[in-house]
Parts: sequence; C-alpha cells; structure tokens
Amino acid sequence: MKLLVVEDDPPLQAALVRLLGRWGYACERAGTAAEALAWLEQEHFDLVLLDLGLPDRDGLAVCRRLRSLPRHQPLVLILTARDGRRDKVQGLEEGADDYVVKPFDPELLRARLRALLRRADRPLQCELSWGPLRLQPGQTTVLVHGRPLDLTPKEALLLEQLLRARGGQLSKASLLHGIGDGRREVGDDALRAHMRNLRLKLSAAGTAPTLIETVYGIGYRLDPAASS
Ligand code: CA
Repeated sequence: MKLLVVEDDPPLQAALVRLLGRWGYACERAGTAAEALAWLEQEHFDLVLLDLGLPDRDGLAVCRRLRSLPRHQPLVLILTARDGRRDKVQGLEEGADDYVVKPFDPELLRARLRALLRRADRPLQCELSWGPLRLQPGQTTVLVHGRPLDLTPKEALLLEQLLRARGGQLSKASLLHGIGDGRREVGDDALRAHMRNLRLKLSAAGTAPTLIETVYGIGYRLDPAASS
C-alpha cells in the first residue's frame, strides 16, 4: 500500500507522513503540483492525499490530470482548508474519491482512508462513458449506441484517455505517453494516423464526426456538447 502526500505546508506535511507511517502506510511526499505530477507519472500509488492550495497550481488541476492518465488510477482524498460546498462538489466532480476538511481529526482521517482503501480492494472497473460511447477500461471493444465496435489496442487507449479527461483537452505529448507505454516510440504522425482511424470508425458507427475535436496547437478533446 503506497500513498502520496501532496502538501506544501512543511510542518503539516511532516505530521501527515509521520501519522501515515505510524498507521503502516508507506508514503512519498510532494510540496507542489509539479512534484506531485512527476511522482504520479513514474510510480504507482494506491492513494493520493491532495491539498488544494498549492503554490504552483490548484490541486484540482492535479486531480484532473491524474484522471486523464490511462492507467495507474490511484484513489484521491482531498485534504483542504476550503470547506465550501461548491469546492467539495467540484473536487468530487474532478474525480476525487473523498474530501476531508482541515483542521482534521486524525482518527477521522484514518477511518476515511481505511474505508477508501477497503473499497479499492474490491476491484471495480468503472465504465467510462460519453454521449453514445461506453468503454470498460483495458478493453478494446467500445459500445457505440449500444452496439460493439472493435478498436486496435492503441485506438482503445487513445479513446480511454479522452473519456477519462471528460471533455478536457489532452496534449499530444500526454496522449503519446499513454499509448507508447512511456517510451517515445510513436511520433506525432502516428498519433494523427491512430486518431484519424479512430474518428473514422466512430463516425461509421454513428457518432457525430466532430465527437473528437482537434485543439489546435495542443492536442485533442471530446466535444463537451456531445456528453449526453
Ligand atoms: Ca496548502
């Protein structure tokens, strides 16, 4: 069981690491969003304790980015001083699994952690969906308007990343990372070719031709207007 503590306040970060160690969890620490993302891209974590007020980027951006990673999806527990209802809803919408408000009671935090990790023990592959599309992560058959459509493994990985981003834009570099398994084995041309084939298959199966949008100079995203 490995945790990542993302917290920019040094005394609180140290206290969290100490508590987690005492409770038997191994953990790494990050003080900025950039450090957190660097950890998340190279290592597998079971759970991320995420502060929202970070010096470089909002913790929600970390959550969003994390949810667009094609594999290694850790649980996310937001730990923050923000206690507005809107912040909570937004955190959960960005893919957080739970939310604890600071200052927190250590025993409450421990109970929430246990409950989350227990839930994760029973692997429950969440179906990803967007408009007419339904995809089980790790599978190469997508349902389009309820009918199965076969994709190549790389097309399926591209679609999975786009579905996880839920209309958010993904850079070409991050999409490539996701289909090249971390090695830069496929270039921009290959990405364009996979994307063209994926679009052709999806539109032949009855989706709008604009379902996957090109974001010029950046990459791709699913058309937010097509989400329902
Ligand atoms: Ca903070």
